[in-house]
Amino acid sequence: MSDNCIFCQILAEKAPCYPVHETRYTRTFLDIFPAAPGHCLIVTKEHYTDIFDATPEAIAMVGHVSTLIAHAVRDELQCDGVGVFQLNGAAAGQTVFHYHMHVIPRNTGEELVIHSRQPGNASELEAMAARLSKRAHAMRIDD
Ligand code: 5GP
Ligand code: ZN
Repeated sequence: MSDNCIFCQILAEKAPCYPVHETRYTRTFLDIFPAAPGHCLIVTKEHYTDIFDATPEAIAMVGHVSTLIAHAVRDELQCDGVGVFQLNGAAAGQTVFHYHMHVIPRNTGEELVIHSRQPGNASELEAMAARLSKRAHAMRIDD
């Protein structure tokens, strides 16, 4: 737990999120500034700043879960592709300094973005989290 870390606040239930999936080591929830509808973040339960700080085990677990979430996103949203991105350091575009992976639905012809400044609509985020959560849990890949 790190003070002033928004993802730690979410993990401690001190800030809200739109939950999608959970394992012993990870939580997955929607990005509230979605680059595309269904944009998920897979977050380690422990606070690690970035790839240089996280343990290989935690990184492997996030990678493992990212395959499940990529399948869930593609199956549920029928998108053309799925981007899996992970940024380390401000120079690489990292804006929240708690290790996480982005899983972003992609469709042919759409501009490739990782960050959006536009917040998602609350009821749409809620409905999306419910759909992806149901799909991910039906797949039964877990820790
Ligand atoms: P990074 O730039 O560090 O790879 O990605 C951080 C992501 O966290 C950004 O895409 C940003 O939209 C998202 N984000 C920032 N604050 C919050 C928040 O309070 N809740 C959620 N769910 N996502 C957030
Ligand atoms: Zn944190």
